Amino acid sequence: LKHKAKKYDKQAADVNLAAVLGAGIMGGGIAYQSAVKGTPILMKDIREEGIQLGLDEASKLLGKRVAKGRMKPEQMAKALNAIRPTMSYGDFKEVDLVVEAVVENPKVKHAVLAEVEGQVTEDTIITSNTSTISITYLAEALKRPENFCGMHFFNPVHMMPLVEVIRGEKSSEKAVATTVAYAKKMGKTPVVVNDCPGFLVNRVLFPYFGGFARLIGMGADFQRVDKIMEKFGWPMGPAYLMDVVGMDTGHHGRDVMAEGYPDRMADKTRTAVDVMYDAGRLGQKTGSGFYAYE
Ligand code: NAD
Repeated sequence: LKHKAKKYDKQAADVNLAAVLGAGIMGGGIAYQSAVKGTPILMKDIREEGIQLGLDEASKLLGKRVAKGRMKPEQMAKALNAIRPTMSYGDFKEVDLVVEAVVENPKVKHAVLAEVEGQVTEDTIITSNTSTISITYLAEALKRPENFCGMHFFNPVHMMPLVEVIRGEKSSEKAVATTVAYAKKMGKTPVVVNDCPGFLVNRVLFPYFGGFARLIGMGADFQRVDKIMEKFGWPMGPAYLMDVVGMDTGHHGRDVMAEGYPDRMADKTRTAVDVMYDAGRLGQKTGSGFYAYE
């Protein structure tokens, strides 16, 4: 692994200015992380409220660091200044790497990727934070698909160390290496994976969720399962994790996995998760899922 890391380091271009498209849950987190680790970042959204939410989230996280004594107020001001909110492509010619983090819709992503490619230089690396859409498929919108790869963060971005760097069929070594280097600069642990449904993490996670849903369907107590999995050593059990991820995201992910791996993931048995999803009980985002939240 060390040998491979060195190989990537050599081919990486410097990222002195980044940009994130979409200032939502993920975009706001990505902007915060980049800024805190010293890479200025343009944060573009099409809605002013979106930008404000992204900035509010970043200043809340920075405020917590200051309160805990892990950062000086001047450093907080510097980090906040490193996030440059925008609704236009004004400064995109100076951007070295773009992270697309708009809504998970293939049509919207194709349009946004083609649009941003027209605004950056021929050397700019463009990445997507998609959770479920094929990187090779997204690259079809681009004139320079070699400059494109996946950069999949996990939620919440500031807490989750892993970043999957996804190599599409046409991704160049330089695109992959630059994305790996930028992830490291952000203090993350990148792993390079091939383009397939679920990439790496969700190929492991979804069968686990499926096993859990089956178990509670057979009468197991979800709170006990959570406690037992915590004793097993996981930071949280599957029910709590599903509440964090959200039943809507889980539902969509399950469909993607069923389509990708019909031989083993296309189980249509209705579970408690489907019942909650249909009732709009999506987890923490709606105030209730397996558990109730204030
Ligand atoms: P979100 O709905 O919170 O934010 C999306 C943002 O994109 C919104 O602010 C919206 O205004 C903006 N937007 C829409 N069209 C745009 C455009 N043309 N240009 C600029 N901004 C635009 O979504 P999210 O949860 O942050 O997810 C974003 C991406 O990250 C998706 O691809 C999702 O699959 C992926 N992802 C999400 C999670 C998660 O747990 N939420 C985890 C990993 C990856």
